[in-house]
Amino acid sequence: MNLPRPLSHSSITLYNECPQKFKFKYVDKIPEKPKHFFSYGQSVHLALEFFYGAKEPKAPSLEDLLKHFREIWVKTGYRDENHEAELFEEGRQLLARFHDKHAKSYHVPFSVEYGFTFEHEGIPLTGKVDRIDKLPDGRLSILDYKTGKKLAAGRLDLDAQLTMYQFACESQLGAEVGELIFYHLPTLKEHRTVRRGAPLVKELTTRIVATAEGITKERFDPKPTENACRWCDYKPLCPIYKDQYAGMPAVAAKASGEPELAALVDAYGDALAKAAAAKAEADAAAAALSASLKKKNYVRAFGERFEVSSSPAVKWEFPDKKKVLDLLKTAGLYEKVLAPSAPLVNKLVEDKALDADLRARLTELGERVESTDLKLKGL
Ligand code: SF4
Repeated sequence: MNLPRPLSHSSITLYNECPQKFKFKYVDKIPEKPKHFFSYGQSVHLALEFFYGAKEPKAPSLEDLLKHFREIWVKTGYRDENHEAELFEEGRQLLARFHDKHAKSYHVPFSVEYGFTFEHEGIPLTGKVDRIDKLPDGRLSILDYKTGKKLAAGRLDLDAQLTMYQFACESQLGAEVGELIFYHLPTLKEHRTVRRGAPLVKELTTRIVATAEGITKERFDPKPTENACRWCDYKPLCPIYKDQYAGMPAVAAKASGEPELAALVDAYGDALAKAAAAKAEADAAAAALSASLKKKNYVRAFGERFEVSSSPAVKWEFPDKKKVLDLLKTAGLYEKVLAPSAPLVNKLVEDKALDADLRARLTELGERVESTDLKLKGL
């Protein structure tokens, strides 16, 4: 198997956290449920992309920034309307504080939302850097916004995401990275560190190669841990938890996390069930009608809205389809019926021009069932 998509920092992290979860998400392409923290983070990121996306060295007004925030607000994943309103207001206040701090000293960054795609040892890699600035000495300053409440102590010095960004920018932009920044937005605090040294870059590239190898060799064993499993949407599908969810198919359907899709799936299932019930009802009515017409020796009858006419018909039923197939193949007639579908074999067995011996052997394999064809039309 090839890689299902270029590797990114988050997909590499996911594979190493739990290969089975990676498979559900990226190989089977089962979407996760929307999460409010992703929606909120994406909304704030889009607003800051707008703020730093100006072509002139002049910050957009606070009014324009907040108007944009309202327009791009991602609405999915919140508990309810109150929860959504609470986080929307939190985002507005955060942006107002950010604008107050940075509008006066505004600068046009070297790049905003810099997307990269490149290969390392034949492994496609992709990602997006929130912001890149040029330092006075010409080197690059790489910045990643964080919207979570807390930034874990020590994360800045080892975090593989910043290492990946440094690796990507240096190989794609041909400039050395001078500093790496996590900008913690709730506190408006920039946490800086110097560029990663060779050991951390080597650790990253080793991890990239090992991850790609695991995926291409289809190593997707579940790796249950309290942290990974607690919020995992794929539990109903996961082999580790399948016993807990046995007999609860509806729960698995909800794992798709796509309410509109789930509604369409259910609507399709409901419609097919209704169609099957309607067909069973129509078959029963047809059988009763045929029997009644036959008893009275009628070939035509009228209702108030429909009329029906009947004609005798013959149908062959073959319990052992394989024997029929073998016989037709031996007689060189397989092509005549292509795949031996019931209507075509029925036509063949009633064909008077068919070799008498073959016809006899074919009829031995089946049972002749007399039935009635009904033609219905509206009045
Ligand atoms: S429930 Fe746990 S073990 Fe199963 S896929 Fe999710 S994270 Fe992996």
